[in-house]
Amino acid sequence: MNSVEPETVEHRARDWQLWAILGVLALALLAIIWFAHRGERPLAPRTAKTGLPLTREQQSVDFQTADLTFEVLPTKQRINGRAVLGFLVKAPITRLQFDLDPELPISAIEADGRALDRSAWSNNGGLVTVTLPQPKNAGDRLSLAVTYGGRPHVAKRAPWDGGFVWSHTKQGKPWVATAVEGEGCDLFWPCFDNSMVEVGTVTQHVIVPAGLAAPANGRLLGVDKLSDGRTRWNWQARRPNNYAIAIDVAPYKIAKTTYQSRFGYRMPVDFWYLPGEEKQAQALLTEMVQTIGFFEATVGPYPWWDEKMGVVDTPHLGMEHQTINAYGNNYKPAPEGFDWLMNHEFSHEWFGNQLTNADWDDMWLHEGFGSYMQPVTLAWLNGRMGYDAAMFKQRQTIANKFPIVSGRHQTEEEVYDPKTGPGGDIYVKGSWVLHTLRGLIGDQAFWTSVRREVYGRPDPKPGNFQPRFGSTTEFEAIASQEAHRNLKWFFDVYLRQAHLPRLVTTQQGATVDLQWKTPRGLPFPMPIEVDVDGQRQVVPMTSGRGTFTLPSPNSLFTIDPESKILRQNDAVDRYRDEQAKNRPKTAG
Ligand SMILES: [Zn+2]
Repeated sequence: MNSVEPETVEHRARDWQLWAILGVLALALLAIIWFAHRGERPLAPRTAKTGLPLTREQQSVDFQTADLTFEVLPTKQRINGRAVLGFLVKAPITRLQFDLDPELPISAIEADGRALDRSAWSNNGGLVTVTLPQPKNAGDRLSLAVTYGGRPHVAKRAPWDGGFVWSHTKQGKPWVATAVEGEGCDLFWPCFDNSMVEVGTVTQHVIVPAGLAAPANGRLLGVDKLSDGRTRWNWQARRPNNYAIAIDVAPYKIAKTTYQSRFGYRMPVDFWYLPGEEKQAQALLTEMVQTIGFFEATVGPYPWWDEKMGVVDTPHLGMEHQTINAYGNNYKPAPEGFDWLMNHEFSHEWFGNQLTNADWDDMWLHEGFGSYMQPVTLAWLNGRMGYDAAMFKQRQTIANKFPIVSGRHQTEEEVYDPKTGPGGDIYVKGSWVLHTLRGLIGDQAFWTSVRREVYGRPDPKPGNFQPRFGSTTEFEAIASQEAHRNLKWFFDVYLRQAHLPRLVTTQQGATVDLQWKTPRGLPFPMPIEVDVDGQRQVVPMTSGRGTFTLPSPNSLFTIDPESKILRQNDAVDRYRDEQAKNRPKTAG
């Protein structure tokens, strides 16, 4: 065997250097690809949170108008924005603050039409402070025009985390959506990221590449054709939740009809679908019209009767974007005979958009009511089996780890994180609390309470109500009034304690003793229906205890035969613990 010749050794040394350089370059390229794909630096702490207390400056103004222009550039995954914000000053200010993701740098700000020097504003971790050219007094008006742009934060698994979704249709066309409930409006426009702030009028101008459509919130003002072939979609919405402002872009087609309401008005119903899915879209449109009719008869007038009912097919599961609900359930056939996702998001037009939580601590007012409407719809569509089956499914995932309502200020994140708050219980336990309340106080008192909570009055008609903020304590007071009894004990145990009340049953001979066990021994005079040999009776349980007698010690009996009462159940607990690894299926 020949030894290795010197020349070959030299070649190999050079090869080695070449490979080393190529290796380093490849690693660098991989790192770039990884960063580009992962895309996201962690959000600035303030930007990541929603529902932080308003700053003093934010409390000193009334946020009246937002005129938002978004140039959407799908191929660059970038937006250019210009936001003209209109305020009425309520208390003297020398500067104003708003929230905006620092990853969308501001290039210019004008105050009342006058360009500000670059030194007049700064974005400190998502809180932009603008020093005004001159102080403003109560009663003054202020207009801020903010020009900004960049690559907005991308959601990894919308709608459970917020941001832009840059997707593609089957034909390879851009399919873009936003969902920012968790992180808030400041992910793509300058706003006050707090659910208590609803801008009076929000106008959107969404500029998209030729061949794409951009449905949005509220009424369509018109579509402009730009000289470069792109189109600008102009929309206007009244009092939207700020997290409900959404951008949706795709080669959408529209299925539409007119809804004739029992309240006398006529309104467009629009479903924006992707090409090739017309048949499914028409079927969903029919279901949408049927659903508005049912909700109006059950809860009250559709809150946005003067705008539209709008739903848009999105690449993510769903979100309650006011008058342009996100729908991403792929028209899945369901044995229940309805599309639960469309129904759930639509319910938020009442519970979320018309009635908005006063604090994220009251979020069950959105999700508990929103989740109860699916069983209620099923009872109407299919009779009792649909209702009971849906309730039983919800019952299996109640976690009881944290109270639904803590009684203190909470951010969206604290409520939704199952490590710090009730998480999925605001949906499923909230729904069961309503089911139990309805069983306790009856349909009349229950639905009147719901109506008063949603509209602030028992007799809502188009034109006699405005969007409003509500709280748990308010609903407790309304339900107590309508039921003609103090229901504090009911709400204290079900909403303000983590654990469920437990019914202890002991039988001695023909006597059955019932006793409620509650966290911290709280009073719980929940009456219980009992069937004994086919005969129904009610055990009042006034002091949390009660007794009934059987015809003989061997008689069969059933406690709570109609399953009206939410209470601790060993079998469900064991099953739930087994399933605990699987996340409950909740949406927007
Ligand atoms: Zn929801």
